[in-house]
Amino acid sequence: MTTLDKQRRKKLQAVVDKDYSYRSYYDDDVEVRATGKCGYGVYAVRQFLPGELVMEVTGQLISKKEYEGSEYVMDLDTKWYLEPSTPGAFMNHSCSPNCELVQLTKTSLGVVAICNIEADTQLTFDYAWEAFDWNPKCQCGSRNCRGWVVAEDEVKKMKRLAKNRKKKPR
Ligand SMILES: [Zn+2]
Repeated sequence: MTTLDKQRRKKLQAVVDKDYSYRSYYDDDVEVRATGKCGYGVYAVRQFLPGELVMEVTGQLISKKEYEGSEYVMDLDTKWYLEPSTPGAFMNHSCSPNCELVQLTKTSLGVVAICNIEADTQLTFDYAWEAFDWNPKCQCGSRNCRGWVVAEDEVKKMKRLAKNRKKKPR
């Protein structure tokens, strides 16, 4: 990974650490639970109304210049990825999500409810991934499921990739 300007890095990380310790970590409006079929997920502990901020996602900042994040990494801005801390890291994708991500501060993302969310509902957002060979099959179970964890306008490309993948001899 690129060694960042130490000063800048320190400054940004300090903001993240501060946020992390006084907000997300003690946030008990959401909870990480086992989903039964998709590993772990994040669940609402109380009801959320449309437009309400559900939680803040903070974490480690990774320069886009040399990407070395995990599969959980989120887009922060043109220069940075956010490697989310828990509980953000456990949010699952859905093709019919109940939340969306917005940029909240320079170093964090906000999860905002886009519909009424009852307590004990799993919180999801649209990962909107680009189509690549490795995109996993989607298990969101929604009626308009795209079949893969991929952005809506990348479905065509994804289908093409999946077809080619099948043809390739092992
Ligand atoms: Zn789906």
